[in-house]
Amino acid sequence: TTTESRTTELAEPQMLGFLAQLGIDVEFTRAEGDTLFYRDAGGREVPVLDFAGGYGALILGHNHPEIVGAAHEFLSAGRPVLAQASRQSDPAAVVGLLNTILRREFGDPEPYYGVFANSGAEAVEVAMKHAEFARVLRVRELLTEIETHLTDAVEAVRSGAARVPEQVLRDLGVAPGDGLDAAAERVRAAAAACAARPPVFLTFAGSFHGKLAGSIQLTHNADFRVPFAGMAAGARFIAFEEPGAVARAVEAERAEVPELLVDGDEIRLARRPFPVVAAFVLEVIQGEGGIRTVSAPIAAEVRAAADAAGFPVVVDEIQSGMGRTGAFFAAAHLQLRPDYVVLAKGLGGGLAKTALTLIRESFYRPDFELLHSSTFARDGFSTALALRALRVLEADGGAVYRLAERAGERLRGTLEKVRADFPDIVAEVRGRGLMLGVEFHEQSASPLHPLREADTAGILGYVFSGYLFGAHRIRTFPTASAVRTLRLEPSAHLDDESIAELDGALRTLCTLLRAGDPRLFGVV
Ligand code: PMP
Repeated sequence: TTTESRTTELAEPQMLGFLAQLGIDVEFTRAEGDTLFYRDAGGREVPVLDFAGGYGALILGHNHPEIVGAAHEFLSAGRPVLAQASRQSDPAAVVGLLNTILRREFGDPEPYYGVFANSGAEAVEVAMKHAEFARVLRVRELLTEIETHLTDAVEAVRSGAARVPEQVLRDLGVAPGDGLDAAAERVRAAAAACAARPPVFLTFAGSFHGKLAGSIQLTHNADFRVPFAGMAAGARFIAFEEPGAVARAVEAERAEVPELLVDGDEIRLARRPFPVVAAFVLEVIQGEGGIRTVSAPIAAEVRAAADAAGFPVVVDEIQSGMGRTGAFFAAAHLQLRPDYVVLAKGLGGGLAKTALTLIRESFYRPDFELLHSSTFARDGFSTALALRALRVLEADGGAVYRLAERAGERLRGTLEKVRADFPDIVAEVRGRGLMLGVEFHEQSASPLHPLREADTAGILGYVFSGYLFGAHRIRTFPTASAVRTLRLEPSAHLDDESIAELDGALRTLCTLLRAGDPRLFGVV
């Protein structure tokens, strides 16, 4: 083997082997809009209709001319990519423009500060880290107050200005003879024990927030998460769309610490709420969990629980944001005002890798900027492209959002008709705008042995991907954690011809599934 092919084989060969089994291990050589091209054995260019859309990153399609233009301009001007620790107007303009959009969609003038990152998972971890930093600072403030009040109490008793009722000592589990010093030790020990506990993050069952050591703890899928459970504090997964479940989960985490106060000439025992929950993190439309939408009443439960307990709501718009659902933020449809909001995927215009965590002023801890950084975050190239991507989305009064909404309605209508004609094959069509999922029924009773096996192995959706690619030159994948659901996340410029192609392909797939036809396999 040549050095080059050896290198290829060593770059995640297991994954390549899996793609090869499905017959989708082609190398694409060109991309434009919703089309990827590869060259067949004869050297002819073969178009593939791309509904995977860079896993949701291509709301503007592949190589959008304006974004490509911005990249050319940036490079021809010789602008610096890596001039960290300097004044940079593009990142500032990106955050400024996003603030304009946030004000428009949520009707709230409070500004959001922005911290850049390099990937979705990293931006989620910025949110987690910031939320934990804010919680730790609140814990410190609380402990300082408790200690000050304790010192005051001890002083008041020593000077004879106040006395300690025996009941106070008994409530703290101290024998009346042991006196106030023992009680003070109990108060300090209780505070220290609470402060030593890891933070709790709340999220919904089915959520996907990334695969790094911290963010994987918020990703429900056990296959992805469990091997790494020892690497960071675990999250509490709350039943999805179950009324009352959010309040119950918050109540289950409620903690208090004792405090001694001087009250006239007596010492009184009080209990202070202790902040255990760092944040509630959610996708308003779960992407990898199978394209599942949070309802407005449940979103309101999250908002109310967070407001009552004082922790932030982090809305992960990595997949649902950037206009895909017809609004820039999917949370706008529910009027769920985020305290933090996380963007990635489409933010780089489909050309650059960048991510951003936005934090509402009343939750923002400016010292975080001195604690958190990354060499490549907010680099000149990706932030210039992000700015252009936002301007393209916002142009003509948000024409792209309307395109996405209308294309989404047409695509959804087509998928619903497929479901109506094949109710035994297609279980449900879900989602909003151009974030759609088609869930298939299980195939455990299929006459086709390999199909039954694939379903048991949890790769049924991938078999469908292989078929749609091989027989119809259509690219789509199952969602990461709900593998009987195919995701459809094309660009806002999706045309009717492409929808018709998908329609025909899905109908053929359903017909073959219904008949148990082995042509489902090996069509490539
Ligand atoms: N959050 C959500 C909602 C996502 O869909 C994803 C990616 N599928 C991530 C986080 C992680 O982003 P990345 O793959 O860029 O780390």
